[in-house]
Parts: sequence; structure tokens; C-alpha cells
Amino acid sequence: PVSIENKIPIQDIKILKKKLNGYVGFANLPKQWHRKSVRRGFSLNIMVAGESGLGKATLVNTLFNREIINHENDIDDEDISDKDDISVKIKSTTAEIEEDGVKLSLSVVTAPGFGESINNVDSWKPIVDEINSRFDSYLEAESRINRTTTVDNRIHAFLYFIEPTGHSLKSLDITLMKQVHEKVNLIPIIAKSDTLTEEEIAAFKGRILDDIKAQGIKTFSPSDYENDDEETVLNTRQILQKFPFAVVGSTKEVTTADGRQVRGRKYPWGVIEVDNEDHNDFIQLRQLLVRNFLEELKEQTSNNLYENYRSEKLKKMGIEQDNSVFREFDPLTRQEEERALHEAKLAKMEAEMKAVFQQKVSEKEKKLQRSEADLFSRHKEMKDKLTKQIKLLEDKKVQLEKQKTLPQDPPAPAPQKSRKGFLR
Ligand code: GDP
Repeated sequence: PVSIENKIPIQDIKILKKKLNGYVGFANLPKQWHRKSVRRGFSLNIMVAGESGLGKATLVNTLFNREIINHENDIDDEDISDKDDISVKIKSTTAEIEEDGVKLSLSVVTAPGFGESINNVDSWKPIVDEINSRFDSYLEAESRINRTTTVDNRIHAFLYFIEPTGHSLKSLDITLMKQVHEKVNLIPIIAKSDTLTEEEIAAFKGRILDDIKAQGIKTFSPSDYENDDEETVLNTRQILQKFPFAVVGSTKEVTTADGRQVRGRKYPWGVIEVDNEDHNDFIQLRQLLVRNFLEELKEQTSNNLYENYRSEKLKKMGIEQDNSVFREFDPLTRQEEERALHEAKLAKMEAEMKAVFQQKVSEKEKKLQRSEADLFSRHKEMKDKLTKQIKLLEDKKVQLEKQKTLPQDPPAPAPQKSRKGFLR
């Protein structure tokens, strides 16, 4: 038999059988990552803001199922003595929590006093300052020579509590959200939604969304989620549909009409259950914040919000950085910018090294000065001692000389014979 194409007898054709390589092992990467993540633990920094009494502390405690924020400590008595001028304070609470061996290091930042004053014009300022200062510390830590221990204190999620008025957003709500929306993952929440009826909530949500859109306020949305698997996309859509989340918070257990023990709030007409999707949007909020998008919140903070802040800041410092993928690519400008950035970095490093060097020199100088002073004082001490000794000796000499010159007692008449010996 011959092969049809080359007319080579088929037995002469060598068939190179390439064996499939064995299992390489990269299918294990997720497991590796999983183990490492569990070992390291997770962290999340959230900021909660809104007027006092809207249930912020209760909701945070409900979300993590333990008392993270202590209600009493939220605002000091002295703060509320003068309603005209209540200053907004920033407080931070941290908690290490563990669930099934997975650790979460949680930091909750609150702003007691926000919206409490009669004049609230600038009450957003301490909040924005706090967000900025956390970005600044991160930027500073990143530019240090040794940056292995950069701690991420940036705010990853910002829960803004809207009063359940049923009308529309207040000007303070709009001002605050506009001030922070480009710096944080903003998650608006209708607080104490059990005080509104279902219809009222639907209408209120609609008006809030209209306001948010009209004002150009950006709220958190997971990036690229449409490319996930069908079930996840559906779930994410369901979560996002509930924006702004109308929630109920309660850490207390109550008994329902059918005898179940649930976390909720009891009313004469029935029980509002926290963990029931039909009663409120608490579950969706928790899914977004912890179960589904904790890492996404952190990624967006790092890759978009912080990056924008950083390049704005560098731009202000005179260094323009090209972050836009869509910007026309001009290699020369780009190169120039990169060079400027690199030089700025080098200059910073040099300045830091110089500072360290100067510090070392000044320390050495101080040490030398100290030992010089020490030597000098020892020298002086010795000199004083010697001077004293000299003086003592001189005094002695004077005394001796005095004794010598003092008239001597007339010598006793000596026998004539020995006179010679006396004169010797
Ligand atoms: P914060 O000042 O915003 O931190 O508010 P708190 O969490 O201290 O709550 C203030 C009051 O509102 C407390 O009496 C809570 O029991 C109550 N509260 C908290 N959450 C809710 C809620 O979802 N619905 C209702 N009706 N009351 C709530």
C-alpha cells in the first residue's frame, strides 16, 4: 500500500506520536491563592455617615452580627451642648473577626456630629479630609524607600444613610455625596425602611435615583460583572436593582407569628425580619459588601479611586501622568512624562537619603560635641586640681620661708670646744 499524496509506502512513514505532557499543576493556582488568602486574612475599611439616630451603629452591628460600634460612645455630651456649632468628629473602630477560620480585620469609621448643627454648610469637610488624609498616607507610604509594610487604611466602602422621609434627597445629602463620590465606593442606604410602606419605599427610591442621576453622582457598581457566569450576573443584577438599599437593622431576636426566632423588629401588626428579602434589602447590602464584592470594593478603591486621586495630586505638583488608555498615544510626550516621573521619584529618594545622611551627620556632630565638652570639662577639672595643688605648695613654701626668716632663738651658749662642729 502507498500513501496517496507522496507515493511513499505507508510502512515507511514515520508517525511522530507526541505524548501529552503530564499535569502541569496550574489548575492548583486558585487553591494556592485560597490558602494564602485564608492565612493572611482579609481586611475591609468602611465609613458610615448620615445624621445621628438613623441606625448606623445598629446596621453595622447587624451586618457583622456583633457589637462593633458602641452606641453610647458615638457622640460626647459636650458635643451636643451647643446645637449651633456641633463639630463633626471622626472616629475609627477596629475589630478582628473570625468566621469558620477566616479572619477579617474590619475598620469602621464614623462621623458623629454630621448634620447635627443648625448650620451644616461645611459638615462634609471633616469627612472629605479624612478620606483624603488616608489617601495621602498611602501615597506617602508607597513612595518610601522601604514599602514592604504599607498598610491600607483607605476607605473601601462608604455607606451613606438617607433619612426615610419618603420625599427626596435633602441638600445636605446631595452635597455630601457630591463631595465624596469620586473618592469612595458610594453605597446609598435608606435607613429604618420599616418606617415606610412598600409603595412609599418604591417611590422614594425612584426619586433618589433621579436626583443621583441628575446630579451626576456615581455610586458603586462592580466592574465588568456582565462577563461573569450567568448565575452570578443574574445575582449581581438583582443586587444592583435594589439600589439604594432600603434596610432595617436589629441585633435582637424576636419571635414571629409562626414561632420562628429571627433578627428583627417587632410591631403590634407583626415582625419585620432583617434577614428576609421580602421585608427589606439587608441581604443584598450584605451580599454586596461582604459576600460578593469585598475584593472588588478594594480593587476599585485601589485601581480607580486612589489612582485618580494620586494622579490629580501629582498633576497639581507639576507632574502630569498619562493614565488614560484612550488618550492619543504620543511616545515622545509619554517618554518625557515617564522621565519626569522617574526623575521626581529619584529626587524624592535622593532627598530622603540626604535627610537620613544629614540626620546621621548631625547625630555624629552632637556626639562629638558632647565628648568635646566632656574632655574640656575633664581638662578643666584637672587644671583646677593642679592649680589648687600649686597654690597649696606655694602657700607651704611661703610658710616655710617665713619660718626660715623668723628670728631664731639665740643659741644656747655652746661649749667652746664644739663650736667648730656647730658651724658645719
Ligand atoms: P446612629 O446614631 O445612626 O448610629 O443610630 P443607632 O444605631 O444608635 O440607632 C438609633 C435608634 O434607632 C435606636 O433606638 C435604634 O434601636 C433605632 N433603629 C436602628 N435601626 C433601626 C431600624 O432599622 N428601624 C427602626 N425603626 N429603628 C431603628
